[in-house]
Amino acid sequence: MTASAPATQTVASRGFSRLPLYFTEKTLASARVVFVDPLPMPPLSSMGLARFAEFERGNFDGITYIDTIFLKPTQSNNENMHFHELVHVIQWRLLGPDRFLLSYANGLECFGYRQSPLEAMAYDAESAFASSTAIFNVEKMVAEKLSL
Ligand SMILES: [Zn+2]
Repeated sequence: MTASAPATQTVASRGFSRLPLYFTEKTLASARVVFVDPLPMPPLSSMGLARFAEFERGNFDGITYIDTIFLKPTQSNNENMHFHELVHVIQWRLLGPDRFLLSYANGLECFGYRQSPLEAMAYDAESAFASSTAIFNVEKMVAEKLSL
């Protein structure tokens, strides 16, 4: 049996119509998306982080590492989902990998997945994107919320 690596595309190449109103061209041209199932999940509990076992078992449709978004193939045309994960791309970029991982792990531990600050920020922005056509600058919003 031959396993082939799933194709990586830029988010820009997906051709979504609304994302360019909220993110810079540079962000959409540099962020990558891979459609794969199951998603690659970090082995947090085997790293001794037993409290994250619940997170690892969670049934997620997407996860982002640095500038690469992994989505299940069922989400390939879901613009809201791409929007949510792009918020994480901006968080990774502004915080840097070390600070992103530290604050993501702290957030999970203190508040649980949905209420963790980095997720709450992504879900709130996604819900604003999904429920209104009002345009906002996501990169600026994330920088402000991170108090950078
Ligand atoms: Zn998220």
